Amino acid sequence: MPSGLRCILFWRKTEVSSDAKKVLGIKIDVDTYMGMKNGVPRLLEIFKKFDVKGTFFLSIGPDASGRAILQLIRNPLFLKKMIRTNAVGLYGMKTALYGTLLPSPMIALSFPEIIRQIQSEGHEIQFHAWDHRRWQDELHIRSTQWIKDWFGKGIQAFTKLTGNAPSAFGAPAWLIDDRVLDFLEDYRFDYLSCTRAQKPFIHEKTGLVEIPSDLPCFEEVGVHDGISTITYNLKDEEIHVLPVHAEVEGGIWSAHFVQLLEQVKLINYRITTLSEIKGLIPPEKLTVRKYRMELLPGRSVPCAV
Ligand SMILES: [Zn+2]
Repeated sequence: MPSGLRCILFWRKTEVSSDAKKVLGIKIDVDTYMGMKNGVPRLLEIFKKFDVKGTFFLSIGPDASGRAILQLIRNPLFLKKMIRTNAVGLYGMKTALYGTLLPSPMIALSFPEIIRQIQSEGHEIQFHAWDHRRWQDELHIRSTQWIKDWFGKGIQAFTKLTGNAPSAFGAPAWLIDDRVLDFLEDYRFDYLSCTRAQKPFIHEKTGLVEIPSDLPCFEEVGVHDGISTITYNLKDEEIHVLPVHAEVEGGIWSAHFVQLLEQVKLINYRITTLSEIKGLIPPEKLTVRKYRMELLPGRSVPCAV
């Protein structure tokens, strides 16, 4: 090999490996109407201030958040989480009634102008849900046809709304099952972000790369210890993904989120989109395995890991 070429290759190799150090992806899940209406614009403002790009995973269809009230009866851990995080304060009284006493408004479908703003400011948009609440509460009792319709409606509306089919799926509440993975093969996803695994891997069933949210979020570790806990996890200088909720980090905890980003900047982490992170990871280095379900600290129901 001519030494000049070897030199270029070496440089490229070095460049890639240094690019893959100290990288933070921010995955913003938009789960509710109020999160889309108020949380997303607030987050866009924050991202502009820090000159960083994020990946927005959008719920497209009905906001049936109020149906969570049914979980209070079924799951004592859920009640504990609601009290700890002051859920009504976080999400607002109206959100707590959508889908029960109040009709469900459409989430992303109600705000095409916000979608255009996310796009024009250079952020990534991907598919999170058609009906988020029903997926997280009822997936296990729903039929295969229901899952098929849920994807059909969601992806069709997503494509109409954004002008493109999504290239990634992030499951609501990090909840998946084997039937879901079967459906994913019908869509041409480039990657998934459906788990809370500690490292990226390849889903055994679909061969799709999983870019997981490995860091804890404010809702799980609490807002007081949140910043130190999250930044402690960044000490290894590797690639990480932080899960964020438009309703929370773009809502009453937005000042804490700004403080967190200031800390991230101080330690020289580069913030980028999940699709860019996917490009930084050579798939041949990833383990091929099946997801498993695990109850993580601070959560009320098991997540895929
Ligand atoms: Zn969500």
